[in-house]
Amino acid sequence: MTAATPMMAQYLEIKGRYPNALLFYRMGDFYELFFDDAAAAAEALDIALTKRGKHSGEDIPMCGVPVHAAESYLLTLIRKGFRVAVCEQLESPAEAKKRGAKSVVKRDVVRLVTPGTLTEESLLEARRHNFLAALSQVRDEFALAWTDISTGVLHVMPLAEARIGAELARLSPAEVLVSEGSEDRLRPVFEDMGIEPTPLSRGSFDSSSAEARLLRLFGVASLEPFGNFHRSEVSALGAIVDYLDITQKGKLPLLRPPRQDSASRLLQIDAATRRNLELTRGADGTRAGSLLSVIDRTVTAGGARLLERRLSAPSRDLAQIIARHDAIDWALSNRDVSLFLRDALRKVPDIDRALSRLALDRGGPRDLAAVRAALGQAQDIAAGLPSNDLPDLVRDAVAALAVETSLLQSLEEALVAEPPLLARDGGFVADGFDPELDEARTLRDEGRSVIAGLQARYANETGIGSLKIKHNNVLGYFIETTAAHASKMMAPPHSETFIHRQTTANQVRFTTVELSELETRILNAGGRALELEKRLYDSLKSQVLDEAGLLGEVSAALAECDLATSLADLASGEDWTRPRVDESRAFHVEQGRHPVVERALRSQGASGFVPNDCTLSPEKDGPALELLTGPNMAGKSTYLRQNALIAILAQMGSFVPANTAHLGLVSQIFSRVGASDDLARGRSTFMVEMVETAAILNQADSHALVILDEIGRGTATYDGLSIAWATLEHLAEVNRVRGLFATHYHELTVLGGKLDGVSNATVAVKEWDGEVVFLHEVRPGAADRSYGVQVAQLAGLPKSVVARAKSVLEALEKGEREKTTPKALIDDLPLFSVVTAEAEPRKTKAAPSEVEARLSGLNPDEMSPKEALEALYELRALL
Ligand code: ADP
Repeated sequence: MTAATPMMAQYLEIKGRYPNALLFYRMGDFYELFFDDAAAAAEALDIALTKRGKHSGEDIPMCGVPVHAAESYLLTLIRKGFRVAVCEQLESPAEAKKRGAKSVVKRDVVRLVTPGTLTEESLLEARRHNFLAALSQVRDEFALAWTDISTGVLHVMPLAEARIGAELARLSPAEVLVSEGSEDRLRPVFEDMGIEPTPLSRGSFDSSSAEARLLRLFGVASLEPFGNFHRSEVSALGAIVDYLDITQKGKLPLLRPPRQDSASRLLQIDAATRRNLELTRGADGTRAGSLLSVIDRTVTAGGARLLERRLSAPSRDLAQIIARHDAIDWALSNRDVSLFLRDALRKVPDIDRALSRLALDRGGPRDLAAVRAALGQAQDIAAGLPSNDLPDLVRDAVAALAVETSLLQSLEEALVAEPPLLARDGGFVADGFDPELDEARTLRDEGRSVIAGLQARYANETGIGSLKIKHNNVLGYFIETTAAHASKMMAPPHSETFIHRQTTANQVRFTTVELSELETRILNAGGRALELEKRLYDSLKSQVLDEAGLLGEVSAALAECDLATSLADLASGEDWTRPRVDESRAFHVEQGRHPVVERALRSQGASGFVPNDCTLSPEKDGPALELLTGPNMAGKSTYLRQNALIAILAQMGSFVPANTAHLGLVSQIFSRVGASDDLARGRSTFMVEMVETAAILNQADSHALVILDEIGRGTATYDGLSIAWATLEHLAEVNRVRGLFATHYHELTVLGGKLDGVSNATVAVKEWDGEVVFLHEVRPGAADRSYGVQVAQLAGLPKSVVARAKSVLEALEKGEREKTTPKALIDDLPLFSVVTAEAEPRKTKAAPSEVEARLSGLNPDEMSPKEALEALYELRALL
C-alpha cells in the first residue's frame, strides 16, 4: 500500500470534517468530487464518473463540474436533498510553490450550501421565502425560530408541542434544525410534513452560549429591547445564528433583530387545513391551483413574499385587519394615485436579496444598482403621494419611503447606468466620479490607441501592409506577419528592432522594446483602474450595509404599498367587497364565491359560477352549524371551502369574493375531508380521518370555524353515520363552534330540528328526463335523496348497471319505508339504537330475482327484433 499523495491527504482531512456533505474540491477551473461523493454526484447530476490515481491500491472514483457552471449543478444537488461543502483554493499554485516544490495549494471550505441557507438568485424562487427554522426545547417549553437569510428576517415564538406541526406547515421551511437526539420525539410531526430535520450539536442550542452569541451579533448588552424571551426562544435563535456561522464560515448574513411572534395574534390554521384549503400550494404541491396563485397581482418580489406571508398567517387582531382594509379602500377610491404607485413599483428590484448578497460578499455592482433603483423609486413614490387623508398603513409607508439619506446620491454618482454582474472585471464606476480612476482609465485607453499608431508606423517602416499588432493571454501584445514576409523582418535593418518570439504554421510573431514598454504601461494602468474600482466597490458596499436597517424599512414599506394596491386591483377586477369584521360571532355572507373554482370555470369557458349565501347566526354563546346534504358533484365541497376562504381572506386583510360579508373574528379554522387518500404517509385513510377529527374536537373553541366534508365516509355505513352523528353533536354542544358540515348521510338531517343551533341546507338539483341537473344552489332544507344512481349514469356507467342499481335502490327504499321512520330514529337516541333499528330491515330485504333484474335492464326501444327474441330465450332459460 502506498501512502496518500499530499493532495489526497489534504482532501481526506477536509472531507473528514464534512461527512454529511458532498465536498466540492476546487482544482483550477473545476470542482472535483472523489470516492462516494463522486458516485453519488455523478448519478444525481447524470455526469460521467471517471478515475483519478489510486488510494490504498484502489482506483479513486472521480467526477467534476466546471466552476463557471457550478450554480446549476448545485441547484440540482440541493433539490435532490444533498448538502454541499464548497472547498476553494486559498492561494495560487505559484504561491504554493514558493513554500516548497511539493507544497499543495492551501484549500478550505468557504461555505456549506444547504437548502435553508441559499442566497443566489438562481437557486431561489423570487416570489417565495426560503425559511430556515430551528426548533428547541428547554424543559417542557418549545420554541420555533426562523429566518430567511436572503431577506434577513428573524422571528421566534414560543409554542405548545401540539402546535409544532401547524406552525411548520405555516412556514413550510426549507430546512429545520433540531438538537441532536431530539429528532425521535418529533419524528411523526416531521414525517407528516415530509421534512428531514438537520441535527445540530447540543452546544448550538445551549441557551447561555446562545444568548452570548446573540448579544455579540446585535452588539447589545441585553436582549430585552427586542422582547422578553423565554430560554427556549433564546436557544432556538442561538441555534440559527450558530448554524449560519457554521455554513457561512463566519460571514454572517444581515440579520434584523429578532421579532417575537405570538400564535395568539394569528388566525390558527393547522397543517391538514392548509393542505385541504390549498392556500399557498395546490393539490400537486406547487403554487398553481392554489388560492395564492389566483389572488397574486403583486408587481414586486418583496410584495409577492409579503402576500404569501399574510395568506399563510391571517391576523386575529381587529385593528390590524381594519387598517389593511382601509388601505385597500383608499387605493380603490384614489385610482390615479394607485396607478402611479403600481407603475413606480414595477421598477423596484428585489432589494432584500441584493442586500443579503452584499452582506455575505456574494454580491456585485448590480446589487448596488438594485439598491439605487429601489431608493430612487422610494423617493419618487414618497414625493408623488398626497400627504393628507392617508390611511395609517399608507401614511407609515410614506414616512419610511421619504428617508433622508446621502446613499442614493452616492450611488447615483458612482455607478454607471447598467453595471455588470461581477465586480471582478470592473467597468461599473461612472466616469467623472473618481479623478484617480479617470486618470488610470485614460492611460489604459490611450495605450490602446498608441498601439494602433504603432502598428501603422511599423507597417510603414517595413513596407508590410498586412503587419498587425495582436494580443493573447500567453504572449501579451505581439507583432504578427505572414511567414512570407517574416524573412524581411529578420534581416537587417529590421532585425535590430524586431525580436522574434514565435513561429506558427502560417505566421511569425515578433516584439519590440517599445511594444513591451507600452504593454507594461497599459497593463499597469488597467490594473490600477481595476484596483481603484474594487476599492470604490468596497466603500459603496459598506455605505449600503451601514444603512441596512433603513433600507429594510424602505423595502418593507414598498412591499406594503405593493400588497395594498394589488389587493385593490384584485378587488376591483374580480368585483370583491370589503368585509365587515368585528368582535361578534356573526358569519353572514351574501352571494359568496369560490375564487379558485370560479377562475377554473371561467378558463374552461363553462357557464358561470353560482354564488351562494351562508348565514350562521349563533345565539349569544351557542353554536351555529349548517348541515349540508345533496348529491355528489352538487357543489358541497366548493361551498364549504369558499366560506372558509372568505374568512381567511378577510382576516389576512383582503376584500372577499361576495356581495356583502359580515364576519365575527375567527380564532381557528379547521377543515377536514373524509378519507382523503393518504397512502403515501402509510396510514389507513380512516385512521387519518379520525386522528384529524379528534384534533378538532379537542381543540376548537367557540370562535373557531369548522368545515367538515363527508366525515365518516372512510368506514362502513353505520360506523360512519354514528361517528358523523356524534361528531356533530359534540361540535354543537361542547365546542359550540360556527361550522358547515357536509354529509351524504341523510339520516343526520333529523338533527337539524333537534339540536340547538343546527340547521339543514341542501344543494339543489333538478331531475329532468331521468337525469340529474346540478343547479349549485344552496337552499334551506334537507335533500330528499342522494341521486347517486343518476350521478353514476352521468359518469358513464354501463346502462345495465345503472338500471340494476335503480331497481336495487327502489327495493331497499321500499323496505325501509315499511319498517322504520326518521321519527323513530330520533326517539330512539342514543346512538346505537339507530344502528339496530335500521340494520334489521336491510339484512332481511328480499333482493329482486335474477329474471326481474335482467328484465329491468332491458330497453325495448333500443332493441332490434332479433335482440328482443334472444333476450326472451335468455329469460326463459333463467326460470
Ligand atoms: P360535491 O362536494 O358536492 O361532490 P363539488 O363541490 O366537488 O361537489 O363540486 C363539483 C363541481 O361542480 C366543481 O368541480 C365545480 O366545477 C362545480 N361547482 C361547484 N359549485 C359550483 C357553483 N357554485 N357554481 C358553478 N359550478 C359549481
